Amino acid sequence: MSGMLVDTFGRVHRDLRVSVTDRCNLRCTYCMPPDFADWIPGDHLLSIDELMTVISVAVDEGIDSIRLTGGEPLVRPDIVEIVSRINAMPKAPRITLTTNALRLQELARPLADAGLERVNISLDTLDPERFARLTFRDRYSDVIAGVEAALAAGLHPVKVNTVLMRGINDDEAVPMLRHAIEHGWHLRFIEQMPLDPHGSWDRSQMVVAAEIHELLAAEFALTPIPGRGSAPAEEFLVNAGPATVGIIASVSKPFCAACDRLRLTADGQIRNCLFATEETDVRATLRDPSIDEATRRQRIAALFAASTSAKLAGHGIGDPSFVQPDRPMSAIGG
Ligand code: SAM
Ligand code: SF4
Repeated sequence: MSGMLVDTFGRVHRDLRVSVTDRCNLRCTYCMPPDFADWIPGDHLLSIDELMTVISVAVDEGIDSIRLTGGEPLVRPDIVEIVSRINAMPKAPRITLTTNALRLQELARPLADAGLERVNISLDTLDPERFARLTFRDRYSDVIAGVEAALAAGLHPVKVNTVLMRGINDDEAVPMLRHAIEHGWHLRFIEQMPLDPHGSWDRSQMVVAAEIHELLAAEFALTPIPGRGSAPAEEFLVNAGPATVGIIASVSKPFCAACDRLRLTADGQIRNCLFATEETDVRATLRDPSIDEATRRQRIAALFAASTSAKLAGHGIGDPSFVQPDRPMSAIGG
């Protein structure tokens, strides 16, 4: 079997975001409350063999880029083996990973050796005390050590993603970019999205892309870089380059028309959008003892095709009918 995952709007899907766990060693306020307890039951999490089956079917169907995420993907004990086994597949896809970097100091080198191409690291502040307040864990120095380890292991470009929040860290846009340029990080600012588990997101309070641009343009000359393709970030040269900065306007300027992404949750549900309210179950097919491997693969391919066909034109956050998904970002996979 081999095909292409094309939706009814002609969008070809090549990128699969795979959440390998919903567990995490931080509690970022916009993602997971400190007393979060609504974990996916352990026996629902896909095993490494199940993940490999789904990913290899997806690759047969035209996926050429796998982004490992979570929760925090590096808390999964077999994460290096996951990378290595994806990398050993025929037609091996590009493998990248989104992480809070807490465990990168020890894992950057083994991950790079296993075939990881690069990492996206999430960091919302350069102030250790603020970091502890924003994440409920005093682990700032581990993140910095993790970023340095990623750079040393050649996981380039190391992209650092920052969510700016009004009155919380929006005073750090300029210092973060200055620090990023000095240290060889590729910084990207992301608009906060309505995916928090407590439903406290408020559009009127959001720091939007235009405002981020204005904050940065007061200090730096920003020149748009054309040729964005399906990438979510609008990229700018900073002070004529070579440094760049990205701004991801997921809410105020959605890039749904060029979206080429599908998602697999840690409990084996395909999602055709971060904001989808419906999911397509592959776990039952993976665990069905009555079918042989060829039938299992055919059925999983059909489930990918069905989920892709059902994809809507856009996330509709601005529509009056918009409903926030039931699951928080940590369970969907960011
Ligand atoms: N734990 C990893 C990390 O933090 O990079 C991977 C998973 S995390 C859910 C992926 C990304 O989603 C992070 O960059 C995080 O900042 C972002 N994120 C989480 N909740 C968000 C929200 N409500 N709006 C925008 N970004 C969010
Ligand atoms: Fe954990 Fe990432 Fe969510 Fe922060 S954003 S709580 S690091 S999953």
